[in-house]
Amino acid sequence: MNSTTLFYIIIAIIIIDFLVDKILDALNAKRYNDPIPEELKDVYDQEEYQKSQRYKTTNYKFGLITTTFSLVLTLVFLGLNGFEFVDNIARSYSDNPIIIALIFFGIIMLGSDILSTPFSYYQTFVIEERFGFNKTTRTTFILDKLKGLLMMAVVGGGLLALIVWFYQVTGTYFWLYAWALVAVFSIFTNMFYARLIVPLFNKQTPLEAGQLRDQISDYANSVGFNLDKIFVIDGSKRSTKANAYFSGFGREKRVTLYDTLVSDLDNEEIVAVLAHEVGHYKKKHIIFNLIASLLLTGLTLFILSIFISNPLLTNALSVNIPSFHVGLIAFGLLYSPISELTGFVMNHFSRKFEYQADDYAKNTYKAEPLVSSLKKLSKNSLSNLTPHPAYVWVHYSHPTLLERVRNLRK
Ligand SMILES: [Zn+2]
Repeated sequence: MNSTTLFYIIIAIIIIDFLVDKILDALNAKRYNDPIPEELKDVYDQEEYQKSQRYKTTNYKFGLITTTFSLVLTLVFLGLNGFEFVDNIARSYSDNPIIIALIFFGIIMLGSDILSTPFSYYQTFVIEERFGFNKTTRTTFILDKLKGLLMMAVVGGGLLALIVWFYQVTGTYFWLYAWALVAVFSIFTNMFYARLIVPLFNKQTPLEAGQLRDQISDYANSVGFNLDKIFVIDGSKRSTKANAYFSGFGREKRVTLYDTLVSDLDNEEIVAVLAHEVGHYKKKHIIFNLIASLLLTGLTLFILSIFISNPLLTNALSVNIPSFHVGLIAFGLLYSPISELTGFVMNHFSRKFEYQADDYAKNTYKAEPLVSSLKKLSKNSLSNLTPHPAYVWVHYSHPTLLERVRNLRK
């Protein structure tokens, strides 16, 4: 194999990936106007249903435009040897492989961020605004962007620098050290997410004493689950869409409720949503996901270590001087079908786990409040009630609303 062949393989992967994605989107879009199943007739009234139809179509068209734009841009960038251009810029500042890698990825990340910002601006202030979801101010939007970039520079840059350094020092064995680093880092962020990252973007306050707190405690006690850290987050600062999640483990374990969830759902519905989340804990889904993703990371890094020292990778992107950072990009592109596949398998497990967590909520609490909360959440986010099965199969990490309602009422 020579570098030209490899280059065309990369191009083929990018185009096929795009086409598969667009076919799935189109199949899904064809079902937008399917009749609503009997069990879900009460989710929307006529007017809301029409609004949800418009929302789906708008997002579909917008997605088509943004992904086509990014495809064309990627192909042009590859065709014009963009990576070599950026590599040369980075090399003009330093001879140190770590500094070169940092400048190289800095330019790529910043460039793609600048190009995608107008689209996310439009998404937030035109589309989400038009459908009444948006609560973000322009100041919050800009601050979010800046904080995100800063975090990326510090955390991403730090991790990258360490991994390049491992490669310098240990050669092919770098993957073991990189794996250990990623493992420690992901367990650490998982553990302290609520303390370290959330405060950068949101305010969180302990749920005040009262009926809701009592009902949650009563439920937690009834299943022997220690749940004393309950926080409410100001999700309404950005969007009307609602959510709830668990984070951390051991003593850091806490549940976070969006203020929008607290105002949209009644107490029983909130307890039912939490019962579902407790189900994920009790059924060991959190641990499974953590271990699975660690093993996948290890496998990916191991495969990377086999190929990274081969100059063919760098040459495939028309870059002359072989390097870790350019090899990493080429590897990422070549590896994407495999990561699509693993993502697909993980989604399959995730949907199984959702049923198990729903069953847990049904058996330890009640099914009906969970049904009505899922319906309310679907309604409030104008969800698609009639997705195409192939689309669900590939993209959905949760079963469809219909499947969940049927399972809960079984
Ligand atoms: Zn779940």
